[in-house]
Amino acid sequence: MTIRLYNTLTRKLEEFKPLEPGKVGFYSCGPTVYHYTHLGNLRTFLHNDFLKRMFLANGYDVRHIMNITDVGHLTNDEDDSGEDKMEKGAARENKSVWDIAKFYKGEFLRDFNDLNMLPPTVMPHATDYIAEQIELVQKLQDLGYTYEIPGDGIYYDTSKFAAYGALTGGSLSGNRAGARVGFNDAKRNPTDFALWKFSPTETKRQMEWDSPWGIGFPGWHAECSAMSMKLLGNHFDIHTGGEDLSRVHHANEIAQSEPITGAPWVNTWLHYSFLLDKSGEKMAKSKGEFLGMDALRKRGYDPMVYRYVVAMGHYQSQLAFSWETMDAAANGYMNLVRRVADLLKSDVGTHDESAYNTWHDKMLAAMSDNLKTSSVLVFVQDIVKSGELNPATKIALFEFVDRLLGLQFIDRAKKLVALESETAPAEIVALAESRVAAKANKDWATADALRTQIDTAGWTILDGKDGYKLVKKS
Ligand code: AMP
Ligand code: ZN
Repeated sequence: MTIRLYNTLTRKLEEFKPLEPGKVGFYSCGPTVYHYTHLGNLRTFLHNDFLKRMFLANGYDVRHIMNITDVGHLTNDEDDSGEDKMEKGAARENKSVWDIAKFYKGEFLRDFNDLNMLPPTVMPHATDYIAEQIELVQKLQDLGYTYEIPGDGIYYDTSKFAAYGALTGGSLSGNRAGARVGFNDAKRNPTDFALWKFSPTETKRQMEWDSPWGIGFPGWHAECSAMSMKLLGNHFDIHTGGEDLSRVHHANEIAQSEPITGAPWVNTWLHYSFLLDKSGEKMAKSKGEFLGMDALRKRGYDPMVYRYVVAMGHYQSQLAFSWETMDAAANGYMNLVRRVADLLKSDVGTHDESAYNTWHDKMLAAMSDNLKTSSVLVFVQDIVKSGELNPATKIALFEFVDRLLGLQFIDRAKKLVALESETAPAEIVALAESRVAAKANKDWATADALRTQIDTAGWTILDGKDGYKLVKKS
């Protein structure tokens, strides 16, 4: 099937052509593990997951690399100043940097797993690829792209790379990101960036390594160039990240890599739009206040509800997070789960291959057309409502939707069926019966109080035309 993706580099929706037929290699900038991963980061990772599932559904052999940043990402990464985010996290919690990395990576993996994301083929840590990063800087030095700022580090001279900033249509003079006051005034061009930072002389860093330029640590951008080339080769198909990365981080990655590999280093660049917080701004770890999976767990949401929220949007549009959106999505998702549960309980009939193929192809075409996840969800509603499709075919289609969107409809529906088959204990039934009596007496306050009591005891009471039903809560 034809695959089309929006390539930031060409600013066009393009037909995807793999470097090797039937195979796709892609690299995604992963989390900096100095704090909990927030819902914005997770939105970006969910889009990677949709991308990967789309390729798998098209029969591709997928090689996906996503790094773990555990060194070198400075609080002010646009001009290579400020503190190392990892060292800052360690100071905040009075732990070693290594412990911070281990703890937050573990938390990240838990979220990743709860959201049913497929594990990357390799998840390299920046600190395991220091030799490769030093080698990268050495090559750039040999090619004449670097200079030293004494007492600071080895810098990349962006004026030596004619195509600098081409990814976002920027130019050397137009990008004033680095034109701030501070010792980076020593940079030759505002866009120049650190390849290797020297350790401070007055304090000892927890993470530092020896190098041809002295003791220090790699600049943040170096890791992604070094690790992607090592694990995917000198040319690969796709590089992804949140929209904040295109102008500086990815521009710098290209500048570091193309002198070594030759252009084009990466064929397609995919950037995902932000998740916004309640004030309409980018959700950001550095702001200190952000929502992570824990906030959702505490409020009792199934992680699939957040996945559903993300799937209802499109990666090229920003998404405003709100609890109202979560509640609406929870209803929408649960309604679908209930419909699937009904299908599982029904007399399923025989699978209709031709009808299956028609809907399968429609959904795959939507997904392959620039990852239109929300269009897949519209088809899902059509499938549920269809009077022509029998339950067996509908169930098979939901199995496909689960592979494509990872929403675990079948799994949740099976759990619901199991819960529904549990009979409520006598004391819960007694409460339900009292509620029936209260309703008959139009004593709504008592009826509501009894519903709350039943709910708190772990049961949901569902009213229908033939009376109530008690369902155990998951
Ligand atoms: P970080 O852990 O900050 O290095 O970011 C990990 C990934 O999340 C990167 O691809 C970022 O571009 C992305 N990201 C950061 N903030 C947001 C946000 N508010 N919405 C979507 N993606 C984000
Ligand atoms: Zn990166």
